[in-house]
Parts: sequence; C-alpha cells; structure tokens
Amino acid sequence: MILKNYLHKLSNLRTDKNRNRYPAYTSHRAPHKPFLLLSMMDLIAQGSITENFIEPSFELVETFNGYWNRIMPLGSKTSMAYPYPRLKTDGFWHLIPNPTFENQININFSSMTKLREVCAGARMDEELFQLLCNPETREQLRAALIETYFAPEIRTKVLEQGHLNYAAYRYSQKLLKVAEWKKDFGKATDESDWQKKIRDSGFRRTIVTLYRHRCALCGIRMLTPEGHTIVDAAHIKPWKDSFDDRPTNGMALCKLCHWSFDKGLMSVGKKYEVLVSKRILVEQNFPGHILTLTDRPIFTPEKESFWPAQDNLNWHLRNTFRR
Ligand SMILES: [Zn+2]
Repeated sequence: MILKNYLHKLSNLRTDKNRNRYPAYTSHRAPHKPFLLLSMMDLIAQGSITENFIEPSFELVETFNGYWNRIMPLGSKTSMAYPYPRLKTDGFWHLIPNPTFENQININFSSMTKLREVCAGARMDEELFQLLCNPETREQLRAALIETYFAPEIRTKVLEQGHLNYAAYRYSQKLLKVAEWKKDFGKATDESDWQKKIRDSGFRRTIVTLYRHRCALCGIRMLTPEGHTIVDAAHIKPWKDSFDDRPTNGMALCKLCHWSFDKGLMSVGKKYEVLVSKRILVEQNFPGHILTLTDRPIFTPEKESFWPAQDNLNWHLRNTFRR
C-alpha cells in the first residue's frame, strides 16, 4: 500500500513541459527531478547516504551531472540547484533551512552556492526513505521513474548509468584501501570499454575527492554554478606505462597544470615542491603566474599514505620533465 502510494507519486512528478527545450526521448519533459531521484537512489545503494537527511553534497551534484551529461544532448546545461528545492512541490520532500534563513525558503535558486547558503539539506518522507533503503523496493521505484520519464530507446542507457555509478564507487573504495594495493596493480589488463569507463570514473572520483577539488600544483579550486570542477584526475606515471590507479600515482590538476605537467613543463621535486621548467621562458611565451609557483609546496591529501609516491614522481622527472 505504501509502496503503491510512492510509485504513484514518483510517476506523477510536477515537471516542466516544453517541446523546444526537451527532447522527444524525455517526452519533452524536464528530466531534472527524475535524474535527482535516481542519483539519490545510487548514493543510498552504495552506502553514501545512510540517514534521511540528504545534503546537496559534491557527490550528489556529480552523480546528477553524470546522468545529465550521459543522457541529454551535447552542450545542454543545467544545475542541481533547480530540481533540489522544487521537489518540495511533490509532497514528499522537506527542505531544511540553515539557521538564518528559517522563514524565507523559496524554491528559486540559480546556483549551488546560493542553494547551500540557504539550505542545510532535505528530508524525505520516512516511509519513502525506508523504501529506498530496501534494495527490492528501491529497484521498483527506479524502474517506475525510468519507464515514466524516458522513452524505450533511452532506458537502457539510464539504467546503465546507475550500474556505472555503483561499479565506479566500488572501484574507488578499493583504491582507498591501502592494505589491498599490492595485489592487482601494475599488471597489464585486457579491459573492455565498459571496464575502462568504470575505472576512469572511479579513479576520477577518488582523486578529486582526496584533493578536495584543489589543484595540487597551483592550489586553485574553481567550480561552476552547475558544480563542474576545474580539476582533472591526472596519472603521474601514465596508465599505459603503469596500470596503476592507486592514489599514490595520481594528482588533481587544473586544466593548465595538467597540460603543463603532461608536456613536461611542470613537475614535483623530492620535497614535494613545485618545479617549473626553464623551457617555458622562451620568447613567445607569457607564462604569467606559473613562474610564481616555483618551489612552493604542492597541495596534498590529508593522509600521507595517499600522497604521490616518490617513485612515480621520479619517473616523471626522468621521463617527462624538461629541465
Ligand atoms: Zn593548477
């Protein structure tokens, strides 16, 4: 009876309809709320959400953006700041304001920053939360969402994204278990496209989280209002030479530092200091702030066991860095 009630509610979300804005495979309806609910289901399934208090976390945003980027047409943009407060209008979602905003919660936020300023999080009906914690009923609710809001030709892809999220999470947990590292890293593997996707996504998630979205070399942290981050997860010794995704072979690097690192124009020294190649000082260049980074300590994860390994940094100094 309770399940039936929520199957009905999730199949009748109030969503914007617009023929020009949304594709036929989402029935010309805004898929924001379904994507947000699917993302919450994924985080509950993997154990990242364990209490009925759902914060607008980086992880939730990344998962939501993952669905959006996989399913929606290339170049279309959105922010989780739209559906997160608006779910309130569907009757099972209760926003929890931060102390100074108690009486003034509206549901129009244009950015995650603003949303986080006003909202501490949200709670869903306890009955619904319990249904989502139970794998069997969760999958029934997931199926209802997918069947209602996505055309048959796209459903497998939506479902696959959920599987990918789960598998990538498992992989990232493995990367964080120092005790298990020795076993299967460093060996060549024959991997399918699907395995590569899981590995890329799991490695990325691990590194970006450990570095808290900050570039190891220049220290900047920048996120767009949609929650897209400037940092990439970079391998120190490339995957093709190392088959090593352990955090000790990775760093979060901004686009500029990533490119400079891969081209051998920047590296990291023995004392974890930034090295800048003298080769950037050629006539046509304007290297700007990069020069000021020389000898500054790099930004590292909190735990030393996750810092870049000297072996890997040495490899980069010997094989890639231009002195
Ligand atoms: Zn940088």
